[in-house]
Amino acid sequence: MAGRDFTPVDSPDTADLVILNTCHIREKAAEKVFSEVGRLRQLKDSRAKDGKSMYIAVAGCVAQAEGAEIVRRAPAVDMVFGPQTYHRLPDMIDRADAQQARGQTVRVLDTDFPAEDKFDHLPGKTGHKGATAFLTVQEGCDKFCTFCVVPYTRGSEVSRPEADIVQEAQRLVDGGVREITLLGQNVNAYHGAAQAGGTQSLAGLLYRLSEIEGLERLRYTTSHPRDMSDDLFEAHGALDTLMPYLHLPVQSGSDRILKAMNRRHTAEDYHRIIDRLRTKRPDIALSGDFIVGFPGETDADFEQTLELVRFVKYAQAYSFKYSPRPGTPASVIEEQVDEAVKTERLAALQALLNEQQYAFNQSVVGHTMRVLMEREGKSSAQLLGRSPYNQAVHVDFASLSGAETLDESATQPYTRHMGRLLDVEIVSAGPNSLRGRPVLTGTSF
Ligand code: SAH
Ligand code: SF4
Repeated sequence: MAGRDFTPVDSPDTADLVILNTCHIREKAAEKVFSEVGRLRQLKDSRAKDGKSMYIAVAGCVAQAEGAEIVRRAPAVDMVFGPQTYHRLPDMIDRADAQQARGQTVRVLDTDFPAEDKFDHLPGKTGHKGATAFLTVQEGCDKFCTFCVVPYTRGSEVSRPEADIVQEAQRLVDGGVREITLLGQNVNAYHGAAQAGGTQSLAGLLYRLSEIEGLERLRYTTSHPRDMSDDLFEAHGALDTLMPYLHLPVQSGSDRILKAMNRRHTAEDYHRIIDRLRTKRPDIALSGDFIVGFPGETDADFEQTLELVRFVKYAQAYSFKYSPRPGTPASVIEEQVDEAVKTERLAALQALLNEQQYAFNQSVVGHTMRVLMEREGKSSAQLLGRSPYNQAVHVDFASLSGAETLDESATQPYTRHMGRLLDVEIVSAGPNSLRGRPVLTGTSF
């Protein structure tokens, strides 16, 4: 929209266009849209009294899945468009302007899966700020887990060509980015056109990106256990730039439930993957996603999930109550689990996961780690960064004694470290973050 002279504003009451970008993965996320539209409608009305207009747009997966329903339930919404048509936004504005000029009710709906690739039509990211960035390499999913809307809202798996990704990564690094997270709904199924001809794998792409000078860290998310290929295991052992952290959702520890979920792997398969990863990279930190209360889940099934968690020892995790999604096979299974049981299981699972996360954080106290400084912290003379294991680290520069700062030019503020990797000694750990102090040798950077 920059090409149309649109600029970001800080608050919606001065906006000509407000876009709600939405998530359809669980019901709670989808419901938020309608309450938010209600609030925006008041702003829109009060702007109208001053003779100003405001378009309200709903974008993303709720728009994709429930476009017609949104138009019916929320007349204040002017535009509805899905994740695959963002590049058409300028045209949609033109259409809305034309409707408004004719005195018609503004109504623009675009939930196509167009043949053209949106990435070819979106301008490359410019003016990216900060040392870390996400880079989409793959979209969509062909797995059809029975609880999940992604294959319907995002469509089938599509991978971007390697050349485009390398070019975008280079541009980000030129702008100061030091860490890139490759993104995809099913990222390790990546199979894009290789620069050298043929098909490139995710591992191949990681090797290629590691050649970019100044790109110090790579991560990727989210992966499916079925797509952990041999070359990806190798990459975790071989690539220093690939951070020792992997988000690998398992959903359940019960084979019966995994089968009903159509995950196409067993708990044992998952164990083997974790063992293999740890053989290649013994310090790898693991993260996962879990669903409790999938239809038909018994206490015994749930106990197997807890058992799997005890085996893996997660550094971090996300866990959810099963949420029936319209149009998915699991939503019509009769034996739905009681809400109270879901609540109880979620609490038990989260207590265990939190305990593990805290223990993992505690285990790094006293160690010195490379931390990428991302932004200013809340306290004075503090920067906030991430450890190789994706832990948030608050780094206190105020605690430095005079001797330690001698080699550094005392006239330069601590903020000069922003966007850099710094050796940090971890002094304490909480459940969600670490505290550390910089180890400044004067020659280390
Ligand atoms: N592609 C990833 C993640 C997709 S969605 C994967 O294969 O795992 C992110 C997470 O949301 C999922 O891992 C799952 O744990 C959760 N999720 C998806 N659908 C859900 C539903 N209907 N109810 C509750 N949680 C759900
Ligand atoms: Fe959804 Fe992930 Fe399963 Fe694909 S693999 S259907 S995105 S949970």
